[in-house]
Amino acid sequence: MTDCLFCKIIAGDIPAETLYQDDDILAFRDISPQAPQHFLIIPKKHLNGPAAITAGNEELFGKMMRVGAELAAQNGIGEGFRVVLNNGEQAGQTVFHLHMHILGGRPMTWPPG
Ligand code: C5P
Repeated sequence: MTDCLFCKIIAGDIPAETLYQDDDILAFRDISPQAPQHFLIIPKKHLNGPAAITAGNEELFGKMMRVGAELAAQNGIGEGFRVVLNNGEQAGQTVFHLHMHILGGRPMTWPPG
């Protein structure tokens, strides 16, 4: 997707502070952190959002979660972190490339806004 912001980050056309990458996924620090630790896990293949996860690609989602948990531990928030996936504008999705937020390092409240 040529006009997708996160595809441009994957291509290296827009800079990001990368934490991890392999053939399938990229993890980088959120440019506007909402907690002391806030990073994003994205698939390198373009998918619009969580609703694009199907039986054919669910292993990718599992890998995103595994790497997210490993990065949480490596960044000192393994004992307490929040995982957020926004699907659609009404849920607050602003970038329409699937991404998993990992946030931690401060107390979290419930319900989310
Ligand atoms: O779930 P949502 O679509 O709202 O999240 C998009 C996230 O992408 C935001 O937290 C925003 O700060 C982040 N972002 C980023 N780097 C950019 C543009 C957006 O980390 N260049």
